[in-house]
Amino acid sequence: MTSYPQSPVMGQMMSQPLLVSSIIEFAARHYGHVEIVSRRIEGDLHRYTYRDCHQRARRMAHALKGLGVQMGDRVATLAWNGYRHMEVYYAVSGSGAVLHTVNPRLHPEQIAYIANHAEDQYLFFDLTFLPLIEAVAAHCKTVKAFVLMADRDRMPQETGIANLLCYEDLIASNSDDYEWPVFDENSAASLCYTSGTTGNPKGALYSHRSTVLHSYGSAMPNALNVSAADTVLPVVPMFHVNAWGLPYSVLLSGAKMVFPGAALDGKSLYELFETEGVTFSAGVPTVWLGLINHVLQNNLAFSTFKRTVIGGSACPPAMMDTLIDKLGVQVIHAWGMTEMSPLGTAGGLQAKHLALPKDEQRKILQKQGHAIYGVDMKIVNDDGVELPWDGSTYGHLLVKGPWIISSYFKNEGGDVLQDGWFPTGDVATIDADGYMQITDRSKDVIKSGGEWIGTIDLENIAMAHPAVLQAACIGIAHPKWDERPLLLVIKRPGMDVTREELLAFFEGKIAKFWMPDDVAFIEALPMGATGKIQKNKLREQFKEHKLPAA
Ligand code: ADP
Repeated sequence: MTSYPQSPVMGQMMSQPLLVSSIIEFAARHYGHVEIVSRRIEGDLHRYTYRDCHQRARRMAHALKGLGVQMGDRVATLAWNGYRHMEVYYAVSGSGAVLHTVNPRLHPEQIAYIANHAEDQYLFFDLTFLPLIEAVAAHCKTVKAFVLMADRDRMPQETGIANLLCYEDLIASNSDDYEWPVFDENSAASLCYTSGTTGNPKGALYSHRSTVLHSYGSAMPNALNVSAADTVLPVVPMFHVNAWGLPYSVLLSGAKMVFPGAALDGKSLYELFETEGVTFSAGVPTVWLGLINHVLQNNLAFSTFKRTVIGGSACPPAMMDTLIDKLGVQVIHAWGMTEMSPLGTAGGLQAKHLALPKDEQRKILQKQGHAIYGVDMKIVNDDGVELPWDGSTYGHLLVKGPWIISSYFKNEGGDVLQDGWFPTGDVATIDADGYMQITDRSKDVIKSGGEWIGTIDLENIAMAHPAVLQAACIGIAHPKWDERPLLLVIKRPGMDVTREELLAFFEGKIAKFWMPDDVAFIEALPMGATGKIQKNKLREQFKEHKLPAA
């Protein structure tokens, strides 16, 4: 860790380490009556308050101590968004251990790999994942016991899991007479592995300090704008990048929390939005696809839902238009990554944009957004030379800041920084007002005759066609141009469009050489564990595809 020179005159303010436990302590003391509502795996709705959550988190912290969990030990969770998961978040990090959230959508072999790599001591899991735990338990070498996050009457009679504990037994048999320990704010608080589309997953190890700073930064008005007047439903999972920090930022803002559990289909989400008065939500585009379709197909409307953050992959402009114009929901397009805690940029208008025509404003909102304080960014060429912020020159996007990794857990991958900047692997433009727009991931960008073709633009145009439900664009090897774009399309049920009609739809919207060489209609797109289209799988699947001669 870098150390810095000290001034002979130091500030005379209280020195208080920024610790995750301070967030739940604050919420319980100052917003103790505010509710946390959770749809449980059992199907019913559970509700209690921040005060109750704090009490149970302290009981669980006590239990962890009794189980021999030491500072720095890793404790894993494999769980949906729910109140017990939140209790574990605070119990583990608050007591000085490291919360390791595991993505259940990973392949079982990958789950065992990361549990062993992290050297997890205990693993907490939801009932849904009992079969998964039964399959991987024997391979998780360091796990002393598995904790089923359920009531006693839900415990399986027979199971192959050698050491199985009941969550509610641990809560019931421990007192809440527990003081959160105070320690160095740079201590590790939580661990999240990247999905590792190539090679093994690598861990981003967040500190207490980075988590608290990210919580402040992400709650600000120019970012997610969470306040005590909100009711927040995080669709983004707590098992991936800490649900974009919402389990922290919502609590320090005093907003009501609504957890959807495992029911992420459009109908279940809509019901919860309406019955609990949700005002704000956050999720990846594929989730909104299901919710929007449900609302439109059934002629429904949102009565309280006002704002949503969309990120994780590009929000198609057609989706943004539907949410804003048809459903009255403001869209904050945001960008970030596991290595960045995750928030880097968020969309929104500046004072100078307020008088612009709607179409001009929409173009700004469709970009991935403006840096939030705490994140600096720049674009560079292949030689590392910084490129201008003109909105059209694109380059490799590099970032730095106090909630961005300096190295991966256990130093996997060695030195990752370039002159103190973290290379994101994304290709982007930045305009004169500081708005960043992702052109592509550098490994997905199509290299045609020495020029780059950004696949996100092509996909966005395709998805603006009324007959297109989803689209993905990949590069196909080409003898003359190196690579040429192939557009893969899932049609909307009951609608039709031909290859020629779709290509004609691109006319006048893009440079001529960006025109896809071919269109293939498919039934499904391979989705990764974090809700992103797996383009490496598509490239493999279509590598023999013959493009028509030009
Ligand atoms: P993974 O574990 O799959 O890497 P991350 O959530 O860390 O998952 O993914 C980060 C990447 O997701 C970014 O580098 C970027 O390529 C992509 N991404 C995130 N948000 C957006 C967005 N709003 N638009 C386009 N791409 C995005």
